[in-house]
Amino acid sequence: MKIVIAGAGIGGMVVAEKLGVLGFEVVVYEKAESIEKMRYDWHDDVSPVVFEELGIPLPKESAPKRSWTFCSPYEKTIREFSQDESCPDMSVERRPLNRLLFERASKVATFVFGKEVTSAVIENHRVVGVMVDGQRVDCDLVVDSAGVYSPVRRSLPKSFGISEVEPNEVFEAYRAFYNRAHGSATPKYTNKVYMKHLGENGISWTILDHDPTQVNVLVGLVGGLSDEVRAKSIDFMREHNDILGNTVLRGGYNVIIPVRYPATKMVADGYVAIGDSAYMTIPLLGSGIASSMWAGDILAKSIKANMDKGVVDSHLFDKENLWAYQVGVYKKFGAKHLGVDVLKRWLLTQSNEMVDWLFASKVLSNADLQKVASGNLVTITPSAAIEKVLGVGLGNLPILLKMNSMVMKSHKANRLGNKIPVTYSPAKINKWEKRVQSLYK
Ligand SMILES: Cc1cc2nc3c(=O)[nH]c(=O)nc-3n(C[C@H](O)[C@H](O)[C@H](O)COP(=O)(O)OP(=O)(O)OC[C@H]3O[C@@H](n4cnc5c(N)ncnc54)[C@H](O)[C@@H]3O)c2cc1C
Repeated sequence: MKIVIAGAGIGGMVVAEKLGVLGFEVVVYEKAESIEKMRYDWHDDVSPVVFEELGIPLPKESAPKRSWTFCSPYEKTIREFSQDESCPDMSVERRPLNRLLFERASKVATFVFGKEVTSAVIENHRVVGVMVDGQRVDCDLVVDSAGVYSPVRRSLPKSFGISEVEPNEVFEAYRAFYNRAHGSATPKYTNKVYMKHLGENGISWTILDHDPTQVNVLVGLVGGLSDEVRAKSIDFMREHNDILGNTVLRGGYNVIIPVRYPATKMVADGYVAIGDSAYMTIPLLGSGIASSMWAGDILAKSIKANMDKGVVDSHLFDKENLWAYQVGVYKKFGAKHLGVDVLKRWLLTQSNEMVDWLFASKVLSNADLQKVASGNLVTITPSAAIEKVLGVGLGNLPILLKMNSMVMKSHKANRLGNKIPVTYSPAKINKWEKRVQSLYK
């Protein structure tokens, strides 16, 4: 049976290897001209746990990430918090990661570079292939790994029920590595992340790279980033960070990152979405490498489980059978991302003063910040609630109560995510989806 993977996304390459090992004919179409030209010329932070769990070595060029420092919108308050030193996130270079996943997958799958998949081919309500540079390619399953604006997903009929991303559910981010300003001293805070920077709906960061001659900069805004806001944010960061030079050494362009909960339907007959095409990033920070890799593993395992159960080939890629993949994704991380999305939306609607206060009052503890950064939920136990009230004073009780209700809502979202129907029942799924969507209205 033939499987086409549209786009050599991270999850797509993981699943290409695993499905190739299972004996499927797997072909990956990637629009970049070569593996070296694919995706970004920089590094990103990933939990090493996913590499361990999937038995994939970390690319050699990876380095431990430094502790985070969170700043309030105008840097009135700076909060440093340490990572888990026993298992710090790793800064993983993209190009070596791409090469590693490609080398593993290409032993059992065919990669075709310089070919753009433009749409799905649909017959009798089933995806039966893709159009590649104007040519039809038939297959039994399309794995859509072509990123947030995948043309394959966008070509599907509305009746498939796979939701499109809204403008307020993406970050437009400028990312660049600048030179370190000549003669600048090593700053006390090497890893500054500005929440709601300059009062805008987004984040910015200035990070002294593990190559100490470079400074890693990001300015990301929900909905879209104008040149003016980008320039203002970078000017501000230059004033507050002596290390930031003027020459762009790597990157220096805008990219789009989904920052919403995962698609509530990511499968159809003959089709599954994976990675950014199914919005699998952590909604607050946009990290999606680990979840895409996990999703690749879950997809291969759920197909294998159906084969072991004796599902016949002609039904292996029916939505009823692919649904187990989506359930697995929601149980592994999707349900948590629903909760984190509640927190993100809440945070973005708070005033600058409120964000300043949240940081200054320490009502958000280091442990809370650490959880949020890694895609987990903030929990307020009764004893922690008492501690917080005592810490900030009874006068601030109304704010704490509001925050408490947001935390409860985020846990409700998480519980709802975990209640995803385990078998494919359109009525139950529609009901579940409606309940999920109503959380974000
Ligand atoms: C600035 C920035 C910073 C980030 N930081 C982090 C971080 O620190 N940690 C983290 O975990 N994640 C981070 N992410 C997110 C992470 O990059 C993605 O979540 C992750 O790569 C999964 O995306 P993907 O592989 O599914 O899609 P993509 O990375 O978008 O890859 C899609 C692939 O499909 C190809 N393609 C697209 N369209 C077509 C087509 N029509 N035909 C053929 N091929 C096509 C593309 O060329 C590309 O190779 C960051 C993203 C950005 C942009």
